[in-house]
Amino acid sequence: MNYRKLGRTNIEVSEIALGCEGFSGKSVEQTKEMLKYSYKNGINFIDLYSSNPELRSNLGIAIKELDIRKNFIIEAHIGSTWKNGQYERSRNLEANKIAFEDLLVRLQTDYIDVGMIHYIDSQDDYERVFNGEIIEYVKELKAEGKIKAIGLSSHNPLIAKQAVKTGLIDVVLFSINPCYDIQPASEDCNDLWDEGKYKNVEFRIDKDREEFYELCEKENVGITVMKCYGGGDLLDKELSPFKVALTTNQCIHYCLTRPGVVSVMLGVKTNEEIDEAIQYETANMKENDYGEILSKLPKNNMKGKCVYCGHCAPCTVGIDIASVNKYTALVKAEKEVPETVREHYKVLKHHAGECIKCGRCEKNCPFSVNIIQKMEEAVEIFGY
Ligand code: SF4
Ligand code: SF4
Repeated sequence: MNYRKLGRTNIEVSEIALGCEGFSGKSVEQTKEMLKYSYKNGINFIDLYSSNPELRSNLGIAIKELDIRKNFIIEAHIGSTWKNGQYERSRNLEANKIAFEDLLVRLQTDYIDVGMIHYIDSQDDYERVFNGEIIEYVKELKAEGKIKAIGLSSHNPLIAKQAVKTGLIDVVLFSINPCYDIQPASEDCNDLWDEGKYKNVEFRIDKDREEFYELCEKENVGITVMKCYGGGDLLDKELSPFKVALTTNQCIHYCLTRPGVVSVMLGVKTNEEIDEAIQYETANMKENDYGEILSKLPKNNMKGKCVYCGHCAPCTVGIDIASVNKYTALVKAEKEVPETVREHYKVLKHHAGECIKCGRCEKNCPFSVNIIQKMEEAVEIFGY
């Protein structure tokens, strides 16, 4: 399992992580068994959006009995409450306080690693939370050490960008997959799975989404991903808006190669589904490669633009072309190179200045990227 730093926090998390929906309806024993299996296979991170009290209690018992709390990272939501036996998104301060204290008791812990402000997609809701009592409460929780980092979950890149720009947000849980990435920002997340929105659309990554990912990478804000398989639709030729089936590996690799992304949170329900997800870690480049399949979409409009797929590898001298292109894109519009990006570039094993202009990579790029020119741009920006 590969582990990545969760943005600017000092927390290391597995790049394959758990959603909590797979624990829904499971007994304590079943919860414990699945958690044990995940942990044994290197998964140390979960997103707990569900406010279901039983699910929370079962997880708490399982974590305690497996004695893994210290090393098991929990991203749990503030604003996801339980009322009259049902989930309710709430901005009521008292209801949120009660829900958070209850969460700690049920999880048998005195802190949550990432206190995730639950699901803001509209501007009105953003104003309510960020100019009101909820953000103050979340800041208090962080100051008291009851949460170690502040997160926000959203499907809307415009809201997510604003939140990151406040400087308060350490982690964003965001819906990412190649389908959603071509959709414009919307306050209604149902647009993302509305078939009508995909009729005659081109494959071109939406500018606001791209800017949001790049902002997170620059600001060292970690993105955790929900809906990596598009609710399963992307794995099915008939259901996918692209009318081609992607594999789980291709979906995971797509998400993990977006700038800023740290982990994909998968709603796995069985040990077999865990096996399927974690085999990404040992798969070869060809099995994870999504570049070719996306480049063949009838309305591919990404010609000349790097999507960071890695299909051009291996470079003759070992340059990680996708990463060089990513870091170059991050700073192109900037006057100065952000320190985080400079550091990321520095730790690459080989740098753009080593390019011998052999042209091998360009023959392999399905998006016709002028890679040699990109390497020259990188040398101009970083100096080597
Ligand atoms: S240059 Fe082409 S093949 Fe290489 S990562 Fe970018 S899009 Fe993929
Ligand atoms: S042209 Fe440069 S970047 Fe491409 S394979 Fe050759 S050495 Fe590597």
